Amino acid sequence: MPVLRINDRGALVQILQLGLIRSGYLSGSPDGIFGPDTQSALRLFQRNFGLPQTGELDAATWAQLQRFIKGYFTKTVARGDTFWGLAAQYGTSVVAIRAANPGADPNRLQIGQRITVPFGFPVVPGNIAYSYELVALLLDGLKARYPFIGTQVIGQSVMDRDLTAIRIGTGENTLFVNASFHANEWINTPVTLTFAENYLSAYVRGGTIGGADARALFERVTLILVPLVNPDGVDLVTGAITSGFFYGNAVAIAENYPAIPFPSGWKANIEGVDLNLQFPANWERAREIKFAQGFTSPAPRDFVGEAPLTAPEAAAIADFTDRNDFDMIIAYHTQGNIIYWKYLDYLPPESRRIGESLSRASGYTLELTPAASAYAGYKDWFIQENNRPGYTVETGRGSNPLPIAQFSTIYAANEPLLVTALQETAAL
Ligand SMILES: [Zn+2]
Repeated sequence: MPVLRINDRGALVQILQLGLIRSGYLSGSPDGIFGPDTQSALRLFQRNFGLPQTGELDAATWAQLQRFIKGYFTKTVARGDTFWGLAAQYGTSVVAIRAANPGADPNRLQIGQRITVPFGFPVVPGNIAYSYELVALLLDGLKARYPFIGTQVIGQSVMDRDLTAIRIGTGENTLFVNASFHANEWINTPVTLTFAENYLSAYVRGGTIGGADARALFERVTLILVPLVNPDGVDLVTGAITSGFFYGNAVAIAENYPAIPFPSGWKANIEGVDLNLQFPANWERAREIKFAQGFTSPAPRDFVGEAPLTAPEAAAIADFTDRNDFDMIIAYHTQGNIIYWKYLDYLPPESRRIGESLSRASGYTLELTPAASAYAGYKDWFIQENNRPGYTVETGRGSNPLPIAQFSTIYAANEPLLVTALQETAAL
């Protein structure tokens, strides 16, 4: 986390504000503007934590504040501590503490033993702009609360950031879900991460998600999620990157396409390659179409790249797909409340019926892909290579990036969609 100070703006300031709100030092919702209210809240936080009152988010302050983003802290057991007592003291539950400490015997806690104490609030926020930094903190937080989930680094972005997959469930059949191929469609990162958190929370409680028994689902099918395919592009759009070589390069690229607003119109990776036009599924045809539209060089959107899978993020997803044996995939995008299910005349077994089932669950319309964007997408390539069901789910309506105010509506449609997708995958 860089040092943040008065008048800074953007997604990283929202992380700071979220930490101050969750710890009780700031009210309202994070607006991404480091103004006087944020500064005085930060000074109060610093005073109460025995830190120099700089009014800046410096390294020492961040070390204390980040636990409120990750949603847990580590406690050294003192005489008389019990899971029950700690749950009451920190506003959490015994179930949550037990889940986070599978090796600790609640009846034989040792003085000096270190345990993880989750706070009572959910880890994944649905009210702020997303960034690579935020997702890394949230994944750390989910892993601490639910240590049985698998995490795997599947590759790196242009800026050398880790692309991380999480694995939930023990079933043989696998559903692969990914979000934010397109930078200004990042709202699906919190949608998919919130689903993961709600599913895990239901699992440890022995509860339900979308009407389904979470433990039964967990045993029948495995969910694999890459919540942030394009971290550098998302950071560009949300203002988490505002300087440096790659930022300057993106500004220069955007100047060649003055009709596209910058950075809000940016869909590509940070080098100007559209990651969902990178897959070897009639890539040459996609190239002809996009070149005819004027996208002949790196661009905020619609440039197919010099060849298929030259962008590291697309290559990582393709490689991860090759090395696994996914039974079904869903790629999340935004615009239209639509589900695309077809590629050319491929008809994977069950794909139409499952598409209709996802449509009923979400209220989204099942449609054929428009001709101008019918090639070189991840879903297209998955269907071509595997002849298995693959879907592009287009959430929300409006102009990209969709305002975070749409989060609740989008989530409400997609929790049942994802539960249905897991059930359908289990039955394949
Ligand atoms: Zn998209």
